[in-house]
Amino acid sequence: MAKRFSADTYIAGILAGDRVMLSRAITLVESKLPSDQELAQEVIAAVLPSAGNAVRIGITGVPGVGKSMFIEAFGLYLIREQQKKLAVLAVDPSSQRSGGSILGDKTRMDALATNPQAFIRPSPAGKSLGGVTRSTRESIILCEAAGFDTIFVETVGVGQSETAVHAMVDFFLLLMLAGAGDELQGIKRGIMEMADAIAITKADGSNLPKANAARAEYRNALHLYPKAASGWLPQVSTCSALEKTGLDTIWQTIYNYLQLTQSNGFFEQKRRSQNLQWLYEAIRQGLEENFYAHQQVKEQLPAIAAQVKDGQKSAFAAAAQLLKLV
Ligand code: GDP
Repeated sequence: MAKRFSADTYIAGILAGDRVMLSRAITLVESKLPSDQELAQEVIAAVLPSAGNAVRIGITGVPGVGKSMFIEAFGLYLIREQQKKLAVLAVDPSSQRSGGSILGDKTRMDALATNPQAFIRPSPAGKSLGGVTRSTRESIILCEAAGFDTIFVETVGVGQSETAVHAMVDFFLLLMLAGAGDELQGIKRGIMEMADAIAITKADGSNLPKANAARAEYRNALHLYPKAASGWLPQVSTCSALEKTGLDTIWQTIYNYLQLTQSNGFFEQKRRSQNLQWLYEAIRQGLEENFYAHQQVKEQLPAIAAQVKDGQKSAFAAAAQLLKLV
């Protein structure tokens, strides 16, 4: 079990921007122990008025698209050229795997990891998607209260975690490779529809013409989508993390988006509906946890599940029977 302090120690530490306390508070948030959870909620409630002031940016893309190098290059650009304080969080329930996750492979983000203006936190291990997204959302609040004004939430663009990340960020950036076979097939259409911007990575050297062609192609594809409620038209640009090009354009895009959505009210409206969405998500999770923790459910579930599996009982009747126990 992690070393615990009093709620006041965590709160004061976070509000003073103490990264060690921030880190330890995130560990509490990630803990499954009810006593840790209780303490975590007390800390979150206390720092909540100091949160909410960062720009929350979701970044996704398939493994190999260049996410780690991009996050490092773009992160350093924001710190050095835009005087930002950056926290990088990951939503990736399978981050124990070796390749793919930027945060699982710290060596590729050395310069960012050691920068005093950056805070990097890998995905919590051994948790379900629901568990990871919940602790990431709570970690955003803690990072904001600790003074980080820009939050990256990274996810590997292959699963369902994108929807969850979309529900916790202001801006969703999709990284895409040029010339990787049939270009619009690589990533699910639903993910493309969520993107506020697409950046074609590795636009350097002999790859440059392909990247420019892909940019034109994605621009055309995005124009076919219905106009978003935000009034924003998703932008497509190219970048190279290697040559550090195109990073200013991406920041300018994010900046323009913020200007537009903050002036037309969409930004605030989206944050409010995200809050509501998380309320219902938390209720759903709480109900589910209570259900499975219930003594009689624990006792009866295995036998009933076996009957359902064998076709002796319908799934609906079995569920109704179990739900009545709670
Ligand atoms: P991730 O799996 O999405 O995190 O991708 P990585 O950041 O690990 O990059 C995958 C590979 O692409 C690595 O071999 C990188 O060296 C390479 N790569 C990443 N960014 C660039 C870039 O801007 N230009 C070029 N030429 N290669 C890059």
